[in-house]
Amino acid sequence: MKGYDVIVIGGGLVGATIAWGAGRTGASVALLDEGDVALRASRGNFGLVWVQTKGAEMPPYAHWTRRSAELWPQLASTLREATGVDAGLQQPGGLMVCFSEREMEERHQLNRRMHNTCGDIGCRMIGRAELKEMVPAIGPRVVGASYCPADGHANPLLLLRGLHRAFLDHSGTYLPGRGVDAIAYADGGFTVRCGAENFAAAKIVLAAGLGNARLAPMVGLHMPVHPVRGEVIVTERMRPFLPYAGHTMRQTVEGSVMLGDSQEDVGFDTAVSVPVLRDIAARNLAAFPILAEATVVRVWSALRVMTPDGFPIYEQSLRCPGAFAATCHSGVTLAGAHALELAPAILSDHLPGKFDAFRAARFPVPAP
Ligand SMILES: Cc1cc2nc3c(=O)[nH]c(=O)nc-3n(C[C@H](O)[C@H](O)[C@H](O)COP(=O)(O)OP(=O)(O)OC[C@H]3O[C@@H](n4cnc5c(N)ncnc54)[C@H](O)[C@@H]3O)c2cc1C
Repeated sequence: MKGYDVIVIGGGLVGATIAWGAGRTGASVALLDEGDVALRASRGNFGLVWVQTKGAEMPPYAHWTRRSAELWPQLASTLREATGVDAGLQQPGGLMVCFSEREMEERHQLNRRMHNTCGDIGCRMIGRAELKEMVPAIGPRVVGASYCPADGHANPLLLLRGLHRAFLDHSGTYLPGRGVDAIAYADGGFTVRCGAENFAAAKIVLAAGLGNARLAPMVGLHMPVHPVRGEVIVTERMRPFLPYAGHTMRQTVEGSVMLGDSQEDVGFDTAVSVPVLRDIAARNLAAFPILAEATVVRVWSALRVMTPDGFPIYEQSLRCPGAFAATCHSGVTLAGAHALELAPAILSDHLPGKFDAFRAARFPVPAP
């Protein structure tokens, strides 16, 4: 049976950042992934590296998100230099447009709460005149916006490709088509069974997205994640008109415009819904009437990996020391922190105190 220092289960953004972060320190790491049949948020997301709304109700999450946005340039440049793959990071700041004075007031209150509980990162409300100077294409119905200089966006598919390529360059072992059926713990080590194959490791990391809910109890953990569907519209390439990231709209470096963002509680249904797409288009069209000229080239839906309170879970098992688990619904935003701070913490055998707020113990374990 082939043995490794670490087995990471799940080759999406969370697993790939951890596997790369662990592999670059010299550990022998295997990355097991279920394959193309799987539900994969990492291949269907919006690509924001988003800070401004994150963590108002949970300051440790706000700080973790901010830290990740700070680490992102280091992650992007390290991957680019090592592999030539450019994840397309841009951090020009982000806008959340408001269509009424009431929306402006609500955003203002949120910014104040964030400022008071989490510190100042330069978020501020901007009125219509200033917004029009920043983004001349803004529509007449927009009253103003909340602006945060820490927000940005990236190409999540290139990020994933860069991580996988860099992981392989560090002698990582990528094993696709391996859905993990069972995990056994004995004598301080783990055996992971995928069909007829078994793999052994001293340490395992569950990073299987929605699959974590089923795998976690095998190592004494509890990962209550559920799907939340989001739908995305992509237009043909347009001349550049949006030089900022937007909460529901961003223009890629190539010129395509991506529109979102729905939050739908529909179980594991990955269909697209015309009424939802119509709502997404209508709100963004009101913000940027120039979109009326655009041809839609693709629409899709994907399932977010959501915890009951929306905040990440980072866990280590007491029953099976050496088993860790990670999940979050902002795997693009948190990629910097996962690669450069979470992965080394896992390798050190112990999650330090700053991860305490993210433990799954905050959720009740259902009775067997
Ligand atoms: C519509 C949408 C928009 C989003 N927009 C943003 C955004 O703008 N910014 C942001 O930061 N985040 C965004 N997200 C969230 C982000 O995509 C996710 O947080 C991130 O992709 C989660 O990565 P993951 O690796 O945990 O999960 P996944 O990408 O789902 O990967 C899990 C992997 O685990 C594997 N797996 C599952 N079970 C098993 C098993 N038993 N054995 C082996 N492998 C297994 C699967 O094959 C899969 O590849 C968005 C998500 C959606 C759906």
